[in-house]
Amino acid sequence: MQKCNENAADRYSYVGEVYSIGERARKNEILQGLAPSWKVLHEKGYIHIHDLDAYGLTYNCLTFNLLKDFPYDKFKEYSTERKIVAYFDYLKSLFSEMGNEQSGGMALANYDIDTAKIFTALQVDICANEQLIKACTVDLIEWCNNTHTRMGQTSYYVTLNIGLADTEAAREIARILLDEFADSGDLVFKPNIVFKVHDGVNAKEGDRNFDLFRKALLCTAKKMIPTYLLCDCTCDRSVDPEKLAVMGCRTRVVANIYGEDSSVGRGNIDNISINLPRLALETVQENPTADAERLVQLFTQKWDEVARETKDILLDRFSKVCAREVSDFPINRNHRLWLRKFDNVREVFKNGTLSLGFIGLSEAMEVLTGKRFYEDADVYVYALGFVKHMRGYCDFLREEYRLNFSLLATSGELISGRFIDIDRTLFANVNGIFDKGFYTNSFHINVDSDLPAYRKIQLEGLFHELCNGGCITYIELKEAPIGNDEGLRELVGIAVKSGTHYLGFNFPKDVCDDCGTSGVFDVCPVCGSDRITRVRRVSGYLEILDGFTEGKKNEVKARKEN
Ligand SMILES: [Zn+2]
Repeated sequence: MQKCNENAADRYSYVGEVYSIGERARKNEILQGLAPSWKVLHEKGYIHIHDLDAYGLTYNCLTFNLLKDFPYDKFKEYSTERKIVAYFDYLKSLFSEMGNEQSGGMALANYDIDTAKIFTALQVDICANEQLIKACTVDLIEWCNNTHTRMGQTSYYVTLNIGLADTEAAREIARILLDEFADSGDLVFKPNIVFKVHDGVNAKEGDRNFDLFRKALLCTAKKMIPTYLLCDCTCDRSVDPEKLAVMGCRTRVVANIYGEDSSVGRGNIDNISINLPRLALETVQENPTADAERLVQLFTQKWDEVARETKDILLDRFSKVCAREVSDFPINRNHRLWLRKFDNVREVFKNGTLSLGFIGLSEAMEVLTGKRFYEDADVYVYALGFVKHMRGYCDFLREEYRLNFSLLATSGELISGRFIDIDRTLFANVNGIFDKGFYTNSFHINVDSDLPAYRKIQLEGLFHELCNGGCITYIELKEAPIGNDEGLRELVGIAVKSGTHYLGFNFPKDVCDDCGTSGVFDVCPVCGSDRITRVRRVSGYLEILDGFTEGKKNEVKARKEN
């Protein structure tokens, strides 16, 4: 079987194969058409231009504004049962059509509240039709998990944000989703579900949705999903929680020069990640006698140079996609899920974000100072200062170009392996940073740090306030914390206080192919089978381990629990 795609989940299909051939040709054509210095930056691994095949053709991702133009007329003559079935079919059609007109993920900011509002407007009594809604929810989960028609080979990246339900009907929708997802089996790990935690609504005993929060935590203890958007953290607390959402694995779109701060009806247009270890390795090679403080200065200057060109690429891509016609986005024009009418491409997309991303802060600091940033107070100050500097530049660009530039704490995906593979051919293995075979995600503490969970949360928290384009902290657990919602809730509480905006829990999960037992094992403890499926999350999405790229597999091997 030919490898179809550089992303995590590979599946063979004829359409997928044709798509992959086209994708490679298109990437090559785009690269040849870029300014020579930009092409060099990408090819030599200083930067990674994400979704290169979509350059100038489409945007990245979108949190749907489901309510603004919902087509009530289409539904109103239907029977109650048909309204329910047709609503879930409508969601699936949105995901499948939109998922092929953009390069990245799709989200709903308030799946529970919006679904309840729509059903109420359609005069559907949610509680009286619980069984049918349950069946449709199971079907939606299976559709998200099993349908691999995007680009002929992958599933759709769908994220459902829930938790703020304000009516009994909305609570019922959230409850059904959590129950059915928890019961959906060990090999079902889509859609992505994000639970929004907010004091006074669900965070503590006595809050109206505290029961849903507990249910969410118990589901996480089994499935690693939901993850948690912490609406009371420093960077989000001034925004109406209903306007907040996480898109896909971490993308955060909130501040808007052209309107209110909100994720709804907006998305990321394009993003590029900078390889920080590369810049550190070059700095040290060029200045072998400089001390740590001077090296950090020189490294920062080097970043400035690369960031200036990266900004030019983001702007070029933005202007190219804005030069397209409305008729080039027929699905967007038809479904009207952006915050404003889709009658002028630039007027719509200027509400989106342009993100500068980064990877390997930890390795970069280790190269420059000889120490890991979380093991030394001075180096931690350098690391934080550098991320502040990157954010400052994004804020400057925002004013200078009147566009929503943001700083993204990039997930690994394929780049953590790609960058290190290039760098090891060019540089000495300073402090053994190449040994593990991947660079650490964004500002994350190394996965083998051995730090207790609370300490990792506290140390990473300050970076969340700076990475306004999205970030996540993961807690690595040794095994599934089945039934321990209180333990997880305690960690969520520490995270809110530490500035964390988005939190996830990871644990290894092995599933026996023969009898379905799950746990952590190489040989099934129940039936003795060695045919084992390994489910892991590395950079935002749960996948079967065999589908991982090399860099991701190496990261899994290196992990130690917090
Ligand atoms: Zn077994």
